[in-house]
Amino acid sequence: METVRTSILTGQLKGCRTILAFLVPILMACPVAAQNIRPYSGPIFDAHLHYNVEAVQPYPVTKVLGMMKDAGVAAIVANSRPNDGTKALAESKNELTKSGVQIIPFIRLYRNRDDYTNWFRDPTIYQMVENELAAGTAAGAYRGIGEFHLYESQDANGPVAKKIMQLAEARNLVILAHVDDAAIEMLYAHAPKARIIWAHTGISGVPASRVVELLVKYPTLIGELSYRPGLTDGDGLLSPEWKQVFLSHPDRFCLGSDTWTNGRWAAYGEIMAGYRVWLGDLPTAIARKIAWENAARLFGLP
Ligand SMILES: [Zn+2]
Repeated sequence: METVRTSILTGQLKGCRTILAFLVPILMACPVAAQNIRPYSGPIFDAHLHYNVEAVQPYPVTKVLGMMKDAGVAAIVANSRPNDGTKALAESKNELTKSGVQIIPFIRLYRNRDDYTNWFRDPTIYQMVENELAAGTAAGAYRGIGEFHLYESQDANGPVAKKIMQLAEARNLVILAHVDDAAIEMLYAHAPKARIIWAHTGISGVPASRVVELLVKYPTLIGELSYRPGLTDGDGLLSPEWKQVFLSHPDRFCLGSDTWTNGRWAAYGEIMAGYRVWLGDLPTAIARKIAWENAARLFGLP
């Protein structure tokens, strides 16, 4: 193990402090087999991030932006319960400049935990979305709506879910949806041209073949890969099945931290380091698409 560490550290990555900041958690976290590949070293777009109320005190804005910088995260989708967390990030001009992190603000549908299971039929949620859209943030207009959850597929047909999809389509807002494959179809039935980031790409274990079927059917669907079951094997490397999916559909996936609890914030560096390991198992150009370009393109970042 030491030999591998030494050879990596004295190889072509030597001298780059930023890369070393990525490598240390990778080397600490990953089994030996995963250390034999060269981790992806380019920028990451964290397309699924929450800065919820519970995180604010233990993880102040300066700290979280510093953690992102250390992990090589150069842009984030920010969506927080309540939306104050997103605004706090958007308003921290000096820290943003220092960290170099770009903020893409999303409207969260949740004022509190009760809203998770009722938003799709609650007209006051729709009103909140309209108010937030009108107000915007210090980082500019909101660019999307979500993450929202639908624990039952048929709730995608709730009246507020339908209106929100149609609003997103009309206003060119990206949707971040934690839903199953049946709900993806229902959401697109409401708004066929909407752009949807599919949070976790089917956390309930939707088969990879079904994921591919939906990607082919809905050209504006992008899969976000946090918590995706079956993605990696015990060594932290890609499973053969998912490696093939990425090679066949390199433009259709992105990464996210999903910092839904403070435990995820505590593991932020490790989560990104884990991504860098399996991305290193792909051709560099494809790794860069999944880590950065696909999400950057969605929001018009260079
Ligand atoms: Zn989430």
